[in-house]
Amino acid sequence: MNDARHDIVIVGAGSGGFAAARTARALGADVALIDHGPLGGLCILRGCMPSKTLIASSDLLHDVREGSELGIDAGEITVDFPHIMRRKRDIIAGFAQFRIDAIREFPLYEGRATFLSPLEIRVGDHTRIRAQKFIIATGSVVAPATLPGLEETGYIDSDMALELSRLPESLLVLGGGYVGTELGQFFSRLGVKTTIILRSPHLLSAEDHDVGYALTDYVRDEGIDVRTETLIERVYSRNGKKVAHLVHHGMAEELEADEILYALGRVPDIAGLDLHAAQVRAHPKTGIEVDQSLRTSNPHIFAVGDATGRFLLVHVAIFQGELAARNAVLNAAEPADYHLVKTHTVFSDPQVAVVGDTERDLQSTGVSYLKGVYDFAEHGKAICINKTKGFVKMLAAADSGRILGASVLGSHGSDLIHEMIVAMNYGATVFEFMKIPHLHPTMAEIWLYPAEEIAEKMNAVQVEPSAMRA
Ligand SMILES: Cc1cc2nc3c(=O)[nH]c(=O)nc-3n(C[C@H](O)[C@H](O)[C@H](O)COP(=O)(O)OP(=O)(O)OC[C@H]3O[C@@H](n4cnc5c(N)ncnc54)[C@H](O)[C@@H]3O)c2cc1C
Repeated sequence: MNDARHDIVIVGAGSGGFAAARTARALGADVALIDHGPLGGLCILRGCMPSKTLIASSDLLHDVREGSELGIDAGEITVDFPHIMRRKRDIIAGFAQFRIDAIREFPLYEGRATFLSPLEIRVGDHTRIRAQKFIIATGSVVAPATLPGLEETGYIDSDMALELSRLPESLLVLGGGYVGTELGQFFSRLGVKTTIILRSPHLLSAEDHDVGYALTDYVRDEGIDVRTETLIERVYSRNGKKVAHLVHHGMAEELEADEILYALGRVPDIAGLDLHAAQVRAHPKTGIEVDQSLRTSNPHIFAVGDATGRFLLVHVAIFQGELAARNAVLNAAEPADYHLVKTHTVFSDPQVAVVGDTERDLQSTGVSYLKGVYDFAEHGKAICINKTKGFVKMLAAADSGRILGASVLGSHGSDLIHEMIVAMNYGATVFEFMKIPHLHPTMAEIWLYPAEEIAEKMNAVQVEPSAMRA
C-alpha cells in the first residue's frame, strides 16, 4: 500500500469537485483529486452538454419546418442522425479534453475511493491517503429500475439515449421530468413516434401549474402523446415490441413501442464509499446529509453536488464546491443561501426558466404577493420572429413591490431569466426595474409588462405609456 497525505482530498472530479479543487488551491491548500473515471464529469460527458448539443439539431429542424410561416420553404428536409451523433461526439470530446487537462494540473489519484476511517481513504487496492479535510463530490447515477418487468424487457436510460446509433421508430418515455421532456421532444422532432407517461397532472411536476400545463399543451400540440395522471404498472415484451401496462383513472390500457426510455430520476452515487467508516450519515435515495455550511456529520468531511441529493444542477454543484472548499480551508461555517442559486431551467421548446420563489413556494409559506403575467403572443418582438409560445410571470411582495420570483415559459427562456436573476440579486422592486432601459424591439423588454402590472396593482405609480412599445 502506498501512503500519501494532503491538506484537502476531493472525491470526484466532476463539476462540484473540480470547482472545490480550484477554490481550495487558490486559497493555498495542498489539494488532491480522486476519480475512477471516465474523467470529465456528468455535465460534460452524459448530461447538460451532450443533451443540449443534440437538442440544437432538433430545435433547428423544428424551426426550419415552421419556416413557411415566415415565407421560407426549405422543401424536403432530411435528418442525418449519424451526423448529429458524430457532431455531438466531437464537441463533447473537445470539452472533455479541455477539462481533463485542467484536472491533471492537480495531484490526481485514478481509482475507486473507499473510506477506511474518518480521516483516511483508500483508492483502488494500492493507495491510502490521509487528509485534514475531505470533500465528497461523487455525483449521481440513474435510479435503479424497480418497475416490474423493466430489466427483462430492456430499456435505455439517458446515458444510452445520448449514444444511440440509430433512431427507434417509436418510444415510450417513462417520466415527465426535465430529462424525459427534453429527450422526448428531441426524439419526437426527429420523427420518432413518442409517448411520455407520467403520474402527475402535467410535465415538470414541481413547477407552477400554469407553466406545467401550458408546456404540456405545447408538447401535445406538436404531436407528442403525453399521458398524464397515469401509473405504469409493468412492462413486458410482445412480438418484438416493448409493452407498457398503464392505469389511468382506474382504466387499464396497453401501449407498445420499439424502445423504452427510463427517465424516472437519479440517485446519489454514494454506494461503495463506505460512508459508515467515515462516520458520515447518508441515505441511498436522499444522499449525504449536510448542514448549511455543507459539513457532513463528520465535521472534517464536506459533501457537494448531486451526492447531496438536492437540486441536481451544475451551477449548484459549482456553488457548493466553492463554498465547501472555502469552509474547509478557512475552517469557516459560511452558510449556503439557495434563494437565487436554486434558479433552474429546462431546455424544452418553449424553454422553462425560474428564479427565486414560485407561486407554489409563496402560497405554501403564506407570503402575500402580487403577480404580473404577459404572453409572448401579445409581445411585438415575439410576433415579429414568430416565437409567440408561452409567457413571463413576475411575483413581488405585496407591500414593497420587491421582486420575489420570476418564471418564463418561452423561446430562449434560459437566457431571458438572467435579467431577473440580476435584478433580484440587487434586491430590485418592480418600480426600480421599470426604470432600467430596455432595447426595442427585443424579447427581453417583455419583462416590463409584468413589472408594470404589479406596479399598477399597487396603485403607487402613474404608468406612462412606454414609447418603447410600438
Ligand atoms: C441527461 C442530463 C441532462 C442534464 N442537463 C443539465 C442541464 O442542462 N443543466 C444543469 O444544470 N444540469 C444538468 N444535468 C445535471 C448535471 O449534469 C449534474 O447536476 C452535475 O453534473 C452534477 O455534478 P457533480 O459534480 O455533483 O457530479 P459529477 O459531475 O457526476 O461528478 C462525479 C464524479 O465522481 C466520480 N466518482 C463517483 N464515485 C466515485 C468513487 N467512489 N471514487 C472515485 N470517483 C468517483 C465520477 O467518476 C465523476 O467524475 C443533466 C443531467 C443529465 C443526466
